[in-house]
Amino acid sequence: MADENFDYIIIGSGSAGGVVAARLSEDPTVSVLLLEAGPEDDDEMIQMPAGFSALFRTKWDWNYQTSEQKQLNSQRKTWPRMKALGGCSSLNAMIYIRGNRADYDEWRDAYGATGWGYDDVLPLFKKAEGNQRLSNEYHGTDGPLHVEDRRYTHELSEAWVESAIASGMKRNDDFNGESQEGAGLYQVTCKKGRRWSVADAYIRPALDRKNLTLRTNAFVTKIELDGTRATGVTYVGPDGRPVTVGANAEIILSGGAINSPQLLMLSGIGPGAHLREHGIDVKVESSGVGQKLQDHPASGFLYYTKDTTDLAEALTLSNVMRWRATKRGPLASNVGESGAFFTSRDDLDVPDLQIHVAPSGFYDNGIHEPVRRAVTVATTLVRVNSTGQIRLRSADPTWHPDIDPAYFDDSSDLDATIAGYRRVIETFAHRPFSKYLDEPWIPASANPTDDEIVGAIRTLAQTLYHPTSTCAMGTVEGSVVDPELKVNGVEGLRVADASVMPRVPRGNTNAPTIMIGEKCADLIKENR
Ligand SMILES: Cc1cc2nc3c(=O)[nH]c(=O)nc-3n(C[C@H](O)[C@H](O)[C@H](O)COP(=O)(O)OP(=O)(O)OC[C@H]3O[C@@H](n4cnc5c(N)ncnc54)[C@H](O)[C@@H]3O)c2cc1C
Repeated sequence: MADENFDYIIIGSGSAGGVVAARLSEDPTVSVLLLEAGPEDDDEMIQMPAGFSALFRTKWDWNYQTSEQKQLNSQRKTWPRMKALGGCSSLNAMIYIRGNRADYDEWRDAYGATGWGYDDVLPLFKKAEGNQRLSNEYHGTDGPLHVEDRRYTHELSEAWVESAIASGMKRNDDFNGESQEGAGLYQVTCKKGRRWSVADAYIRPALDRKNLTLRTNAFVTKIELDGTRATGVTYVGPDGRPVTVGANAEIILSGGAINSPQLLMLSGIGPGAHLREHGIDVKVESSGVGQKLQDHPASGFLYYTKDTTDLAEALTLSNVMRWRATKRGPLASNVGESGAFFTSRDDLDVPDLQIHVAPSGFYDNGIHEPVRRAVTVATTLVRVNSTGQIRLRSADPTWHPDIDPAYFDDSSDLDATIAGYRRVIETFAHRPFSKYLDEPWIPASANPTDDEIVGAIRTLAQTLYHPTSTCAMGTVEGSVVDPELKVNGVEGLRVADASVMPRVPRGNTNAPTIMIGEKCADLIKENR
């Protein structure tokens, strides 16, 4: 028996869930409940762009770790995920990238995700976007998600772009426009030098609506099913007591690529044999739940620098005061300030590699107090062939699931990444970046052999924080949700978050996930 009823219940207030809640509650005739496991997003380090990695491994973080990664010297890798209002849009590095036209056309053509081709989703990206500089057929200027040029750029980030161009890359001032290829400075989801999360863009502006109820510190432990119909959810509230709420219309699961498949499985929706191993009653057999996990692995070329500064030195009281007063200065940096998209091989038509340049030594998920000043040019594989999985470790919802991204298990992923390092080394030969380079750090040689590059990858490779595809959408075998995001075999339940991407797109995943939230709300409204 439900303690209360709402028309729509949304589980998770992240990049997709926050959007769905705000868009559905635009209709005053429906009631909407948004449940978030974490607290309100009330910490200055969330707002201050350069502060994001200070939130890792704190109370703000779900504190996930992968299983031992065979190809990475058996290391277990840290996977930061935000547990607070706004989800990972309150923790991310704010880079605004949509992916490549080919990604969405592939979702439609290879996975049967009808209605998700590039021409279908472009209007949704534009609807969400409030771009401060770009205004043309690719960009929206009055959407809730502020996108701007960073207010601070370190000289090393600019210099790398100039050197990449000198080495033959074209300049690209809009990675989300006509062409993704080339080198340039990233735009960010900030408003006048402050992070602009989904909580800022969508949730807070909707909170004065009487038909939207937000509950934070509400950890959903089960989706309740009556036969194959989802009827409500049970969550543990701040007082530690379980509460069951009913859904008159639909439940939208937006827990992210780790928690959404975990919660489906805990609720009896998933691969039957695996659920039975944990003593869970199988309600709906769905072999694809938790499968097809993808993530972008990133690994840096770390170089000691000279005649310049390191962003890690910027965390001073005076810079904090400056950021507070003006939202300017080095703490307005998003750390990954510039980069590029290019192909690892001449026979590829669309980029499979992305570069993130950080004006500091960025490794093990963050910048560190410098031993020596350094810069990181990180090769990121954005066309990933390895696929891993999320599996339960326990039927207890408080246990973390087993996370296995299977980094580099497909050897083509390693080949492409090596090619990326080689292209990065070419950029190092050109001014102005070359004049700042002192000595190579990792790899330890300026002209490393392939084995030395592989050694660096096995040591340094880490998540670029983009897990997807664990509740994949489509009509092919193993699809968990259909192109309307409805969970196959279940009535009254949709998934909307990064887990539904049939395949990880070529680029950072926040904007694509916000687009999924926009589309989910439209699909629900069309059905009413
Ligand atoms: C450190 C970091 C840096 C990143 N940098 C960038 C970047 O620069 N650019 C970019 O485009 N992308 C970036 N990303 C990725 C991007 O932010 C994510 O892909 C995107 O936010 C995922 O959105 P989501 O809706 O799938 O999940 P999330 O945003 O993670 O939302 C899930 C929400 O559900 C809540 N939740 C989970 N389980 C439950 C439960 N059982 N009950 C109630 N609530 C629950 C969570 O607490 C969370 O708030 C980064 C991510 C991280 C972590």
